Amino acid sequence: MSPFEVTATDGAARAGVLRTAHGEIRTPVFMPVGTKATVKTLHPDEVLDLGAQILLGNTYHLHFRPGDDLIRELGGLHRFMGWERPILTDSGGFQVFSLRDTIAKVDDEGVTFRNVYDGSATRFTPELAQQIQANLGSDIAMCLDHVPPAGITRRKLEDAVRRTTAWAARQRDAPRADGQLRFGITQGGVDEELRRRSTEEIAELDFDGNAIGGLAIGEDRGAMFDTTDWATALMPAGKPRYFMGIGDPEGILEVIEAGVDMFDCVLPTRTARTGSALTRTGRLNLRNARFARDEAPLDDTCDCPACSRFTRAYLRHLVNQNELLGLRLLSLHNLRFLLELTRGAREAIERGDFGTYKRDAIERLQWASS
Ligand SMILES: [Zn+2]
Repeated sequence: MSPFEVTATDGAARAGVLRTAHGEIRTPVFMPVGTKATVKTLHPDEVLDLGAQILLGNTYHLHFRPGDDLIRELGGLHRFMGWERPILTDSGGFQVFSLRDTIAKVDDEGVTFRNVYDGSATRFTPELAQQIQANLGSDIAMCLDHVPPAGITRRKLEDAVRRTTAWAARQRDAPRADGQLRFGITQGGVDEELRRRSTEEIAELDFDGNAIGGLAIGEDRGAMFDTTDWATALMPAGKPRYFMGIGDPEGILEVIEAGVDMFDCVLPTRTARTGSALTRTGRLNLRNARFARDEAPLDDTCDCPACSRFTRAYLRHLVNQNELLGLRLLSLHNLRFLLELTRGAREAIERGDFGTYKRDAIERLQWASS
């Protein structure tokens, strides 16, 4: 039986259920990022109470600290971090390739780089990326891909596409953990021919799901959404589609409209660290003096632990004093906001009303900044 089932569609947008070894995920789904086996500053029960269904773990970081062998010895990543729901692990490809000046050599066999922890030379191959994720015991493992920067030459982009397919074919043959699903990743930037080629080649390898990689890395946003629209339509309809690394409210609604089922981003926790809140009427920078006497909650429609009890004035004080509670409350709020936005989108798709939902949400978001 296929682990994924589409339960409703509205235009290209769809709602579905993905079954994993640690339970079902209802899609579309926003996946909070727990890079180092923690969603920064939050207890896993808090993350669960916010409505999170699945967390991301990071192959690159966990391989070096504390080590995937150690995590396996201690019973796997779920047990290690006290999270019994689904976990997706990325392959480390994005981290290796985004730290460009640490790369020593990329060839068809793998990539050699100096790791950020002790600077020693390390080699990642598709087989190792799979082995690390098998040790972690994640529910969904991602293929190692070659992620080129935005704006490189077409020839280099083509190289990355070719290598990504060759690596995916090798990783597909490597042993995985019991019940672990495995997703392929497409590359090709916003180049129509290369993205199409990559999408077809990865689909041909018949993974459990397919991801769009190498977008949201600094290219033109309009071109990114155009590419997402047509590239998503080329991806197998009966399998989950994952857009890697998008988490701003408008971006989430755009990719859902294109037919994407899963997405992740560090934005909610990273935004919290800058003292900002995501709200339905736009972003609030709490360092702004206009909040000094503001007794309203961050968002009067939100039921998170920050909004149900504290004023903007108090949160502004915590942020300005770099108090840990401020960081925690903003993280709780920002995550709740994106999880609710996504849950609302799912319900709108089920009602056949996603177009209105998206238009209303985007109008509200623009209201505050206008
Ligand atoms: Zn809130």
